[in-house]
Amino acid sequence: MKKYVYFFGKGKAEGKADMKGLLGGKGANLAEMTNIGLPVPAGFSISTEVCTHFYANKRTYPRSLNAEVAAALKKVESAMGAKFGDPKNPLLVSVRSGARASMPGMMDTILNLGMNDTVAGGLIQKTGNNRFVYDSYRRFVQMYGDVVLGLKPVHKDEIDPFEVIIEEKKKERGVHLDTELNADDMKDLVGKFKRAIKEKTGHDFPEDPLKQLWGAIGAVFGSWNNDRAIAYRKMYDIPESWGTAVNVQSMVFGNMGETSGTGVAFTRDAATGDDMFYGEYLMNAQGEDVVAGIRTPLPIADLAERNPVIYKQLDRIRHTLEKHYRDMMDIEFTIQEGKLYMLQCRVGKRTAFAAIKIAVDMVGERLISDREALGRIEPDQLNQLLRPVFDLKEKESAVKGGRLLAKGLNAGPGAATGRVVFNAPDAEAWKKRGEQVILTRIETSPEDIKGMDAAEGILTARGGMTSHAALVARQMGKVCVAGCSSLEIDYGTHTMTVKGKTVREGDWISLDGTTGEVLEGKVATRPSEVLRVLVDKSLDPKDAPVYQQYARIMQWADRYRRLKIRTNADQPDQSLNAVAFGAEGIGLCRTEHMFFGEGKIGPMREMILADTLEDRKKALAKLLPLQRKDFEGIFVAMNGRPVTIRTIDPPLHEFVPHEEPAQRELARQMGTTYEKVHQRVESLHEFNPMLGFRGCRLGLIYPEITEMQSRAIFEAAADVQSRGIPVEPEIMIPLVGNVKELEHQEKIVRRVAGEVMKEKGTKFKYLVGTMIEIPRGALTADEIAGVAEFFSFGTNDLTQTTLGVSRDDAARFLIPYVEMEIYPKDPFESLDRTGVGELMKIAIAKGRSVRPDLKVGICGEHGGDPSSIEFCHQINQNYVSCSPFRVPIARLAAARAALADAPASGAKKKAAGKKSARRR
Ligand code: PEP
Ligand code: MG
Repeated sequence: MKKYVYFFGKGKAEGKADMKGLLGGKGANLAEMTNIGLPVPAGFSISTEVCTHFYANKRTYPRSLNAEVAAALKKVESAMGAKFGDPKNPLLVSVRSGARASMPGMMDTILNLGMNDTVAGGLIQKTGNNRFVYDSYRRFVQMYGDVVLGLKPVHKDEIDPFEVIIEEKKKERGVHLDTELNADDMKDLVGKFKRAIKEKTGHDFPEDPLKQLWGAIGAVFGSWNNDRAIAYRKMYDIPESWGTAVNVQSMVFGNMGETSGTGVAFTRDAATGDDMFYGEYLMNAQGEDVVAGIRTPLPIADLAERNPVIYKQLDRIRHTLEKHYRDMMDIEFTIQEGKLYMLQCRVGKRTAFAAIKIAVDMVGERLISDREALGRIEPDQLNQLLRPVFDLKEKESAVKGGRLLAKGLNAGPGAATGRVVFNAPDAEAWKKRGEQVILTRIETSPEDIKGMDAAEGILTARGGMTSHAALVARQMGKVCVAGCSSLEIDYGTHTMTVKGKTVREGDWISLDGTTGEVLEGKVATRPSEVLRVLVDKSLDPKDAPVYQQYARIMQWADRYRRLKIRTNADQPDQSLNAVAFGAEGIGLCRTEHMFFGEGKIGPMREMILADTLEDRKKALAKLLPLQRKDFEGIFVAMNGRPVTIRTIDPPLHEFVPHEEPAQRELARQMGTTYEKVHQRVESLHEFNPMLGFRGCRLGLIYPEITEMQSRAIFEAAADVQSRGIPVEPEIMIPLVGNVKELEHQEKIVRRVAGEVMKEKGTKFKYLVGTMIEIPRGALTADEIAGVAEFFSFGTNDLTQTTLGVSRDDAARFLIPYVEMEIYPKDPFESLDRTGVGELMKIAIAKGRSVRPDLKVGICGEHGGDPSSIEFCHQINQNYVSCSPFRVPIARLAAARAALADAPASGAKKKAAGKKSARRR
């Protein structure tokens, strides 16, 4: 016969910790604590299978349940030396829910069950404490009325009928607090509550304890499907089929006088992770008093003085629990007349900071292995160490004070505070005079790059997770909130309006790039130790404990990951940052970003506006030495690590000015007329530039551009190599959909490589590969791999072209799309595995069918997203490439993906990985 009820008590339990599926988290841990000898009041858990039966069979129970409950109750009675319903020596119980995953406060609880008029009389005789007994009694009737008999208000503007009665009583007695009501008042309340129940339901309050018990069990199972619980399950992906268990446990009382009390605690500090007992308690109180906020609880350390015996016992339990569970635990305890009881324990929730510290410390204490530590740190939590973050209290008070202005996309994590400016030149100028600024734009374009660099943070009203603002900010390590559509920005008046408030140029605002929040005014930030050690080099690692934690985690991650981690960088300083964070190469150098550097935009514009091939070549000749210098800087910074350089990609109109004054200035510089410049700019206009004249199409129509770029790369490579610094250039052709496009470009690249080697009398290694970023490229990957020596998935474009969703305009409908669960997450942030992912799989299979050692990477923004990195590991890519500040996150995510890999398939995958690793 199936077993439905599991007893625990007197040092022995029928369940244990790994039976959460059957007993729920609370039931399994009560059993476990009993088994390891902790003082747990006896009780029993009714399994989740009864919940499943209950819903599958019109809210009825399995036939054997009645007898099982009766037998378990007997055992509880004998363990506690008390009897259910016996006025001389009554047993009172609590009835609580307990699902497999914690669902705090979502389901129902009933305390002090078993109480009735005769039991109350007996208890008074036993305890001599009238007030305690009637207070317990009235709490029970109230809870039972609310939960079991359905008197609890459903709508938020209704008032609990019992609260109305209590308020009337307090008024009548001229007091303010419940605690000021005496025993007679409580007794009177019991009577009034019962009358209210009769009035509302037409039934008497059940005096029979067994009837009470079954009523409560039914109500708790029923609460699995209340609106709150359903909503919570949806939010946290908890399957309805899990069901809840019901825990029936002997009551112990913390409100029996000054030698009784109750408390909650964590075995370590849940905010900082420090190894100290951390919690609160109250004497002469019940659990709910600690959380209700009427009385201020005392810190747990205080108990050491007040009751050293209990404190020592608790502290021993704290160590026992940590040793046993090998984790930081959250506990609830009650002291009844000087005797300690454990009522609950579960793995404690903690801040990201604490999660990291605890995981690292526990490895040091030999409680867990390095693998387990990696499994306990979510990669994104590392942002807490890598970025400046807001002072939590200051931010909370800003939000409470109504200073939250708006919410956008959390495009670049971290905290930034500064004065608002509305254009890039102002950002530069203000920064020069020592101001901290937030560059606020409707959207950014390559022209804004220097202003973005000068700003502490970037805020845009339009654009998604792969918009220019978002990806450039991440590459620079800047805080960015993008696509904040509630902002109305007026460049003319240098103001923005939001929520009826006007923010003017020079006003202070703060950006939380981790949550996407925009706050009015200044909010203090806390600097990152890791940045101070690795990037600013202003702190010695010896004096940086948080940095040391970071370094340990990275060391472990590198031990287990198979994926290589590269970075997207196009400046030497970005490259150096990335190397400091552990990058093993550059996976994407967007050459077009270099054209906005000092002195380059002029010749670039001349090149674009040139009428003849001759003029274009003249302009390109001016660009050549400038580009060569940029590449030299990057090769030196990367010191022999592979560097993937992409030929120019964006549509040319992005490089020319669109405003009349700027066009007039350009005409003057070029010695031509404004009309001519204007007319040429107009001719570059495209209706859908993202699908227009860009990518390799530019190089096919203007091969001289590819030629100039190849020459700049190879001359730089030869020069740097001649200085004794190894180089490994990889030329990448963007937006290839047809192998003939790649063949055309490859020929140019290889010809120029040959020419440069000849001219310089040297040899260097290089590869030519392509981006796979449009569906035709993926579908014809076998043809393409005949030419390409490597693939890099450009998943920003591959997402946009596969979904038919413009990456720059999608924010306004993608957010609702995610809310409607059409996509589980923004597909520009986290790979759409079913659609885009399928194309990637096809591309890899086809590509490796003709070139088995084809190196495959990813350089879209997904390369820094932990879930997407897991997918890249699963489909057996060789590397991921992400912005410099995400490199540590990617290292951890790659290690976690490798550890989660099934060992059987792992062996095969490792072999493939090794083979291509040798090629690099
Ligand atoms: C991509 O499309 O994923 C990519 C990396 O290129 P870009 O974002 O520059 O178009
Ligand atoms: Mg692209």
